[in-house]
Amino acid sequence: VCGVLPQNIDPSKYDTVITSPGIPPDNPIIKNALKHGSPVISELELGLDELPPVKIIAVTGTNGKTTTCKLIEYITGGKVAGNIGTPLTSYLENISEGDLLILEVSSYQIPFSQSLVPDVGIILNVFPEHLNWHKGFENYVVAKKEMFLRQTFSDVGIFNADMENIDEFLAGIKSRKVFFSLKKEVPRGVFTKDDDIIYIDKDGMEEVLLTRKEITLSGEHNLQNLMAAIAAWKAIGGMKLPDIRGFKLPPHRLEKIGVFDNIKFINDSKATNMDSTLRALESVDKPIVLLMGGRSKNQIHPDISEMVKNKVTKIIAFGESRKEVMRYFSEVTGVIESRTLKEATQLAFKVARPGDTVLLSPGGSSFDEFSDYCERGLKFRKWVKELAEV
Ligand code: ADP
Repeated sequence: VCGVLPQNIDPSKYDTVITSPGIPPDNPIIKNALKHGSPVISELELGLDELPPVKIIAVTGTNGKTTTCKLIEYITGGKVAGNIGTPLTSYLENISEGDLLILEVSSYQIPFSQSLVPDVGIILNVFPEHLNWHKGFENYVVAKKEMFLRQTFSDVGIFNADMENIDEFLAGIKSRKVFFSLKKEVPRGVFTKDDDIIYIDKDGMEEVLLTRKEITLSGEHNLQNLMAAIAAWKAIGGMKLPDIRGFKLPPHRLEKIGVFDNIKFINDSKATNMDSTLRALESVDKPIVLLMGGRSKNQIHPDISEMVKNKVTKIIAFGESRKEVMRYFSEVTGVIESRTLKEATQLAFKVARPGDTVLLSPGGSSFDEFSDYCERGLKFRKWVKELAEV
Protein backbone atom coordinates (compact mmCIF):
# COMPACT_ATOMS: atom_id res chain seq x y z
CA VAL A 1 0.00 0.00 0.00
CA CYS A 2 1.65 3.23 -1.01
CA GLY A 3 1.02 6.64 -2.51
CA VAL A 4 -2.55 7.94 -2.43
CA LEU A 5 -4.69 5.27 -0.88
CA PRO A 6 -7.84 4.30 -2.71
CA GLN A 7 -10.70 4.16 -0.22
CA ASN A 8 -12.49 1.16 -1.70
CA ILE A 9 -9.89 -1.56 -1.12
CA ASP A 10 -11.41 -4.82 0.02
CA PRO A 11 -8.67 -6.59 2.01
CA SER A 12 -10.44 -9.95 1.82
CA LYS A 13 -9.51 -10.07 -1.88
CA TYR A 14 -5.75 -10.07 -1.17
CA ASP A 15 -3.48 -12.75 0.30
CA THR A 16 -1.21 -10.27 2.04
CA VAL A 17 -1.12 -6.53 2.62
CA ILE A 18 2.38 -5.02 2.39
CA THR A 19 2.96 -1.63 3.99
CA SER A 20 5.44 0.95 2.80
CA PRO A 21 7.38 2.64 5.63
CA GLY A 22 5.18 5.75 5.66
CA ILE A 23 1.95 3.87 6.40
CA PRO A 24 0.95 4.03 10.05
CA PRO A 25 -0.40 0.93 11.75
CA ASP A 26 -3.66 2.75 12.44
CA ASN A 27 -4.32 3.47 8.77
CA PRO A 28 -7.97 2.45 8.09
CA ILE A 29 -7.00 0.00 5.34
CA ILE A 30 -4.46 -1.70 7.59
CA LYS A 31 -6.93 -1.85 10.46
CA ASN A 32 -9.55 -3.27 8.17
CA ALA A 33 -7.14 -5.88 6.80
CA LEU A 34 -6.20 -6.97 10.31
CA LYS A 35 -9.87 -7.17 11.24
CA HIS A 36 -10.47 -9.52 8.30
CA GLY A 37 -7.51 -11.65 9.34
CA SER A 38 -5.45 -10.75 6.23
CA PRO A 39 -1.72 -10.95 6.94
CA VAL A 40 -0.10 -7.50 7.07
CA ILE A 41 3.68 -7.29 6.62
CA SER A 42 6.06 -4.43 6.05
CA GLU A 43 8.14 -3.93 2.93
CA LEU A 44 11.13 -4.65 5.18
CA GLU A 45 9.66 -8.04 6.14
CA LEU A 46 9.22 -8.90 2.47
CA GLY A 47 12.89 -8.07 1.90
CA LEU A 48 14.04 -10.06 4.95
CA ASP A 49 12.21 -13.09 3.61
CA GLU A 50 14.32 -13.01 0.43
CA LEU A 51 17.69 -12.34 2.09
CA PRO A 52 20.61 -14.78 1.85
CA PRO A 53 22.27 -15.55 5.23
CA VAL A 54 23.87 -12.24 6.32
CA LYS A 55 24.83 -10.52 9.54
CA ILE A 56 22.41 -7.70 10.40
CA ILE A 57 22.99 -4.54 12.42
CA ALA A 58 19.63 -2.75 12.87
CA VAL A 59 19.43 0.85 14.03
CA THR A 60 16.33 2.42 15.50
CA GLY A 61 15.46 5.45 17.65
CA THR A 62 13.74 8.79 17.18
CA ASN A 63 16.76 10.79 16.03
CA GLY A 64 20.18 9.95 14.63
CA LYS A 65 19.38 6.73 12.75
CA THR A 66 20.67 7.83 9.34
CA THR A 67 23.83 9.39 10.77
CA THR A 68 24.55 6.28 12.84
CA CYS A 69 23.95 3.92 9.89
CA LYS A 70 26.30 6.04 7.79
CA LEU A 71 28.91 5.96 10.56
CA ILE A 72 28.65 2.17 10.82
CA GLU A 73 28.95 1.93 7.04
CA TYR A 74 32.06 4.14 7.17
CA ILE A 75 33.66 2.16 9.98
CA THR A 76 32.77 -1.37 8.90
CA GLY A 77 32.34 -1.15 5.12
CA GLY A 78 28.93 -2.85 5.46
CA LYS A 79 25.96 -2.25 3.14
CA VAL A 80 23.14 0.09 4.22
CA ALA A 81 19.45 -0.22 3.38
CA GLY A 82 16.00 0.32 4.87
CA ASN A 83 14.44 3.58 5.95
CA ILE A 84 17.52 5.46 4.80
CA GLY A 85 16.03 5.80 1.31
CA THR A 86 17.05 2.44 -0.14
CA PRO A 87 14.17 0.02 0.54
CA LEU A 88 15.52 -3.45 1.30
CA THR A 89 13.43 -5.04 -1.50
CA SER A 90 15.06 -2.73 -4.05
CA TYR A 91 18.53 -3.55 -2.78
CA LEU A 92 18.37 -7.35 -2.61
CA GLU A 93 20.42 -8.04 -5.72
CA ASN A 94 23.37 -6.19 -4.16
CA ILE A 95 23.48 -8.48 -1.15
CA SER A 96 25.38 -11.77 -1.03
CA GLU A 97 25.73 -14.49 1.55
CA GLY A 98 28.03 -13.46 4.40
CA ASP A 99 27.62 -9.69 3.86
CA LEU A 100 27.19 -7.26 6.71
CA LEU A 101 23.85 -5.49 6.30
CA ILE A 102 23.11 -2.28 8.18
CA LEU A 103 19.38 -1.59 8.39
CA GLU A 104 17.77 1.69 9.34
CA VAL A 105 14.45 0.78 10.88
CA SER A 106 11.56 3.05 11.81
CA SER A 107 9.18 2.17 14.60
CA TYR A 108 6.25 1.83 12.17
CA GLN A 109 8.03 -1.01 10.42
CA ILE A 110 8.90 -3.00 13.54
CA PRO A 111 5.44 -4.39 14.42
CA PHE A 112 4.98 -5.69 10.85
CA SER A 113 8.51 -7.11 10.56
CA GLN A 114 8.34 -10.23 12.70
CA SER A 115 11.47 -11.73 11.09
CA LEU A 116 13.58 -8.79 12.14
CA VAL A 117 15.84 -10.32 14.79
CA PRO A 118 19.13 -8.46 14.28
CA ASP A 119 22.49 -9.90 15.32
CA VAL A 120 23.18 -6.43 16.67
CA GLY A 121 20.31 -4.05 17.49
CA ILE A 122 20.83 -0.38 18.43
CA ILE A 123 18.38 1.99 20.05
CA LEU A 124 19.69 5.54 20.05
CA ASN A 125 16.97 7.39 21.96
CA VAL A 126 13.21 7.56 22.36
CA PHE A 127 11.50 10.94 22.23
CA PRO A 128 7.77 11.47 21.98
CA GLU A 129 7.46 11.84 18.22
CA HIS A 130 4.82 10.44 15.88
CA LEU A 131 2.48 10.06 18.83
CA ASN A 132 -0.56 10.23 16.61
CA TRP A 133 0.72 7.13 14.82
CA HIS A 134 1.41 5.15 17.91
CA LYS A 135 -1.41 6.36 20.07
CA GLY A 136 0.61 7.50 23.01
CA PHE A 137 4.17 7.39 24.16
CA GLU A 138 3.97 4.01 25.83
CA ASN A 139 2.88 2.25 22.65
CA TYR A 140 5.64 4.04 20.79
CA VAL A 141 8.25 2.74 23.21
CA VAL A 142 6.74 -0.75 23.03
CA ALA A 143 7.01 -0.68 19.23
CA LYS A 144 10.70 0.22 19.42
CA LYS A 145 11.35 -2.39 22.10
CA GLU A 146 9.72 -5.23 20.18
CA MET A 147 12.80 -5.74 17.98
CA PHE A 148 14.95 -6.31 21.09
CA LEU A 149 12.40 -8.62 22.72
CA ARG A 150 12.78 -10.96 19.75
CA GLN A 151 16.55 -11.23 20.25
CA THR A 152 18.15 -14.12 22.16
CA PHE A 153 21.33 -14.59 24.23
CA SER A 154 23.44 -14.97 21.09
CA ASP A 155 22.49 -11.48 19.86
CA VAL A 156 23.75 -8.10 21.03
CA GLY A 157 21.59 -5.13 22.07
CA ILE A 158 23.21 -1.69 22.17
CA PHE A 159 21.49 0.79 24.46
CA ASN A 160 21.85 4.44 25.40
CA ALA A 161 22.62 4.37 29.13
CA ASP A 162 21.67 8.07 29.36
CA MET A 163 18.14 7.42 28.14
CA GLU A 164 15.40 8.16 30.62
CA ASN A 165 13.78 4.98 32.01
CA ILE A 166 16.49 2.80 30.51
CA ASP A 167 16.04 0.09 33.20
CA GLU A 168 12.37 -0.13 32.39
CA PHE A 169 13.19 -0.38 28.70
CA LEU A 170 15.63 -3.26 29.34
CA ALA A 171 13.12 -5.38 31.26
CA GLY A 172 12.51 -8.68 29.51
CA ILE A 173 15.29 -8.23 26.92
CA LYS A 174 17.57 -11.30 26.77
CA SER A 175 20.31 -10.20 24.40
CA ARG A 176 23.87 -9.42 25.57
CA LYS A 177 23.68 -5.80 26.65
CA VAL A 178 26.21 -3.22 25.55
CA PHE A 179 25.84 0.48 26.42
CA PHE A 180 27.05 3.88 25.35
CA SER A 181 27.02 6.96 27.54
CA LEU A 182 28.16 10.56 27.49
CA LYS A 183 27.67 10.88 31.22
CA LYS A 184 28.97 7.84 33.04
CA GLU A 185 31.14 4.76 32.89
CA VAL A 186 29.21 1.74 31.63
CA PRO A 187 29.61 -1.95 32.59
CA ARG A 188 30.30 -2.87 28.96
CA GLY A 189 30.43 -0.61 25.90
CA VAL A 190 31.62 2.88 25.05
CA PHE A 191 31.86 5.94 27.29
CA THR A 192 33.80 9.20 27.59
CA LYS A 193 36.31 10.09 30.28
CA ASP A 194 37.84 13.58 30.01
CA ASP A 195 38.91 13.75 26.35
CA ASP A 196 39.03 10.01 25.77
CA ILE A 197 36.47 7.76 24.12
CA ILE A 198 36.88 4.42 25.86
CA TYR A 199 35.67 0.91 25.10
CA ILE A 200 35.23 -1.46 28.02
CA ASP A 201 34.75 -5.14 27.29
CA LYS A 202 32.79 -7.79 29.18
CA ASP A 203 35.79 -8.53 31.43
CA GLY A 204 36.19 -4.86 32.37
CA MET A 205 39.27 -4.30 30.17
CA GLU A 206 39.43 -0.68 29.03
CA GLU A 207 40.84 0.56 25.72
CA VAL A 208 41.12 4.20 24.63
CA LEU A 209 39.83 4.15 21.05
CA LEU A 210 40.18 7.81 20.19
CA THR A 211 40.24 11.26 21.70
CA ARG A 212 37.87 14.18 21.15
CA LYS A 213 40.56 15.92 19.10
CA GLU A 214 40.18 13.20 16.49
CA ILE A 215 36.44 13.87 16.13
CA THR A 216 35.50 16.65 13.76
CA LEU A 217 31.75 15.95 13.91
CA SER A 218 29.92 18.78 15.65
CA GLY A 219 27.56 18.23 18.55
CA GLU A 220 27.39 15.91 21.52
CA HIS A 221 24.50 14.09 19.82
CA ASN A 222 26.83 13.10 16.99
CA LEU A 223 29.33 11.87 19.55
CA GLN A 224 26.54 9.66 20.91
CA ASN A 225 25.88 8.37 17.39
CA LEU A 226 29.58 7.68 16.97
CA MET A 227 29.80 5.82 20.27
CA ALA A 228 26.81 3.67 19.27
CA ALA A 229 28.46 2.95 15.91
CA ILE A 230 31.74 2.01 17.60
CA ALA A 231 29.88 -0.31 19.98
CA ALA A 232 28.32 -2.04 16.94
CA TRP A 233 31.70 -2.36 15.24
CA LYS A 234 33.16 -3.90 18.39
CA ALA A 235 30.18 -6.26 18.67
CA ILE A 236 31.05 -7.74 15.27
CA GLY A 237 34.71 -8.10 16.19
CA GLY A 238 36.16 -4.79 14.91
CA MET A 239 39.91 -4.48 15.42
CA LYS A 240 41.29 -1.26 13.92
CA LEU A 241 39.18 1.87 13.90
CA PRO A 242 39.57 3.95 10.71
CA ASP A 243 40.30 7.70 11.00
CA ILE A 244 36.91 9.26 11.83
CA ARG A 245 37.96 12.66 10.46
CA GLY A 246 37.23 11.34 6.96
CA PHE A 247 33.53 10.93 7.80
CA LYS A 248 31.13 13.61 6.52
CA LEU A 249 27.62 14.04 7.94
CA PRO A 250 24.86 13.35 5.42
CA PRO A 251 23.39 16.54 3.82
CA HIS A 252 20.73 18.66 5.58
CA ARG A 253 22.10 17.79 9.03
CA LEU A 254 24.02 20.75 10.47
CA GLU A 255 25.33 21.31 6.94
CA LYS A 256 27.45 24.42 6.59
CA ILE A 257 26.38 26.33 3.47
CA GLY A 258 28.96 29.09 3.72
CA VAL A 259 30.02 32.32 5.37
CA PHE A 260 28.88 35.53 3.69
CA ASP A 261 29.78 38.97 5.07
CA ASN A 262 30.99 37.18 8.20
CA ILE A 263 27.56 35.56 8.73
CA LYS A 264 27.54 31.78 8.79
CA PHE A 265 24.60 29.86 7.23
CA ILE A 266 23.71 26.34 8.36
CA ASN A 267 21.13 23.99 6.86
CA ASP A 268 19.65 21.55 9.41
CA SER A 269 16.43 20.92 7.46
CA LYS A 270 16.37 17.33 8.77
CA ALA A 271 15.57 18.68 12.25
CA THR A 272 11.89 17.85 11.97
CA ASN A 273 11.21 17.66 15.69
CA MET A 274 12.00 19.84 18.67
CA ASP A 275 14.61 17.54 20.13
CA SER A 276 16.78 17.74 17.04
CA THR A 277 16.44 21.54 17.02
CA LEU A 278 17.60 21.56 20.63
CA ARG A 279 20.65 19.44 19.67
CA ALA A 280 21.43 21.87 16.83
CA LEU A 281 21.25 24.85 19.19
CA GLU A 282 23.59 23.05 21.60
CA SER A 283 26.09 22.48 18.79
CA VAL A 284 26.14 25.92 17.17
CA ASP A 285 27.94 28.97 18.64
CA LYS A 286 25.86 32.00 19.57
CA PRO A 287 24.56 34.52 18.52
CA ILE A 288 22.06 32.59 16.42
CA VAL A 289 19.26 33.71 14.12
CA LEU A 290 16.98 30.68 14.08
CA LEU A 291 14.58 29.83 11.25
CA MET A 292 11.89 27.72 12.85
CA GLY A 293 8.50 26.44 11.69
CA GLY A 294 7.10 24.15 9.02
CA ARG A 295 4.32 21.76 9.99
CA SER A 296 3.88 21.38 13.72
CA LYS A 297 4.19 18.07 15.51
CA ASN A 298 2.47 19.58 18.52
CA GLN A 299 5.39 19.07 20.82
CA ILE A 300 7.68 21.39 22.71
CA HIS A 301 10.84 20.20 24.40
CA PRO A 302 10.95 21.32 28.06
CA ASP A 303 14.57 22.54 27.75
CA ILE A 304 14.27 24.49 24.53
CA SER A 305 13.09 27.86 25.93
CA GLU A 306 16.14 28.15 28.14
CA MET A 307 18.45 27.31 25.24
CA VAL A 308 16.71 29.83 22.97
CA LYS A 309 16.98 32.48 25.66
CA ASN A 310 20.73 31.84 25.97
CA LYS A 311 21.76 31.61 22.36
CA VAL A 312 19.12 32.93 19.96
CA THR A 313 18.89 36.67 19.26
CA LYS A 314 16.04 36.32 16.78
CA ILE A 315 13.65 33.62 15.65
CA ILE A 316 12.13 33.93 12.22
CA ALA A 317 8.95 31.85 12.42
CA PHE A 318 7.78 30.50 9.07
CA GLY A 319 5.23 28.15 7.54
CA GLU A 320 2.07 26.62 8.90
CA SER A 321 3.22 26.60 12.54
CA ARG A 322 4.50 30.19 12.62
CA LYS A 323 1.80 31.46 15.00
CA GLU A 324 2.50 28.59 17.39
CA VAL A 325 6.25 29.35 17.34
CA MET A 326 5.52 33.04 17.94
CA ARG A 327 3.19 32.29 20.84
CA TYR A 328 5.70 29.98 22.46
CA PHE A 329 8.93 31.94 22.11
CA SER A 330 8.05 35.64 22.04
CA GLU A 331 8.60 35.88 25.78
CA VAL A 332 12.18 34.60 25.60
CA THR A 333 13.48 36.26 22.43
CA GLY A 334 12.49 38.47 19.50
CA VAL A 335 10.30 36.61 17.00
CA ILE A 336 9.52 37.78 13.47
CA GLU A 337 6.72 36.24 11.45
CA SER A 338 7.08 35.20 7.83
CA ARG A 339 4.69 33.17 5.72
CA THR A 340 7.15 31.00 3.84
CA LEU A 341 10.70 29.71 4.18
CA LYS A 342 11.73 31.82 1.19
CA GLU A 343 10.50 34.95 2.93
CA ALA A 344 12.21 33.81 6.15
CA THR A 345 15.50 33.41 4.27
CA GLN A 346 15.21 36.91 2.83
CA LEU A 347 14.47 38.28 6.30
CA ALA A 348 17.49 36.46 7.73
CA PHE A 349 19.75 38.42 5.40
CA LYS A 350 18.19 41.65 6.70
CA VAL A 351 18.37 40.95 10.44
CA ALA A 352 21.60 38.94 10.83
CA ARG A 353 24.70 40.87 11.92
CA PRO A 354 28.37 40.01 11.23
CA GLY A 355 29.39 37.25 13.63
CA ASP A 356 25.88 35.71 13.72
CA THR A 357 24.96 32.23 12.56
CA VAL A 358 21.75 31.83 10.59
CA LEU A 359 20.46 28.36 11.39
CA LEU A 360 17.60 26.60 9.62
CA SER A 361 16.56 23.98 12.18
CA PRO A 362 12.78 24.02 11.84
CA GLY A 363 11.62 21.59 14.56
CA GLY A 364 8.67 20.74 12.32
CA SER A 365 8.12 18.67 9.22
CA SER A 366 8.41 20.10 5.71
CA PHE A 367 5.09 18.96 4.27
CA ASP A 368 3.36 22.34 4.56
CA GLU A 369 5.54 23.75 1.77
CA PHE A 370 7.75 20.99 0.37
CA SER A 371 7.66 17.33 -0.66
CA ASP A 372 10.23 16.41 2.01
CA TYR A 373 13.10 17.73 4.15
CA CYS A 374 15.55 17.30 1.24
CA GLU A 375 13.58 19.65 -1.01
CA ARG A 376 13.33 22.15 1.87
CA GLY A 377 17.09 21.97 2.49
CA LEU A 378 18.00 22.19 -1.20
CA LYS A 379 15.77 25.25 -1.68
CA PHE A 380 17.20 26.94 1.42
CA ARG A 381 20.74 26.29 0.20
CA LYS A 382 19.86 27.72 -3.23
CA TRP A 383 18.15 30.86 -1.84
CA VAL A 384 21.02 31.54 0.56
CA LYS A 385 23.55 31.31 -2.27
CA GLU A 386 21.44 33.53 -4.54
CA LEU A 387 20.93 36.17 -1.86
CA ALA A 388 24.60 36.11 -0.92
CA GLU A 389 25.50 37.07 -4.46
CA VAL A 390 23.17 40.09 -4.59
P1 ADP B 1 16.98 10.07 11.65
O1 ADP B 1 17.44 9.20 10.53
O2 ADP B 1 16.64 9.29 12.88
O3 ADP B 1 15.92 11.05 11.27
P2 ADP B 1 19.31 11.77 11.28
O4 ADP B 1 20.66 11.18 11.48
O5 ADP B 1 18.83 11.94 9.89
O6 ADP B 1 18.26 10.94 12.11
O7 ADP B 1 19.27 13.18 12.04
C1 ADP B 1 18.01 13.88 12.09
C2 ADP B 1 18.11 15.12 12.93
O8 ADP B 1 18.32 14.76 14.29
C3 ADP B 1 19.26 16.03 12.55
O9 ADP B 1 18.77 17.35 12.55
C4 ADP B 1 20.31 15.84 13.61
O10 ADP B 1 20.99 17.05 13.88
C5 ADP B 1 19.51 15.33 14.82
N1 ADP B 1 20.21 14.23 15.53
C6 ADP B 1 21.11 13.37 15.01
N2 ADP B 1 21.52 12.50 15.94
C7 ADP B 1 20.85 12.78 17.08
C8 ADP B 1 20.83 12.22 18.40
N3 ADP B 1 21.60 11.18 18.73
N4 ADP B 1 20.01 12.78 19.32
C9 ADP B 1 19.23 13.83 18.99
N5 ADP B 1 19.20 14.42 17.77
C10 ADP B 1 20.00 13.90 16.81
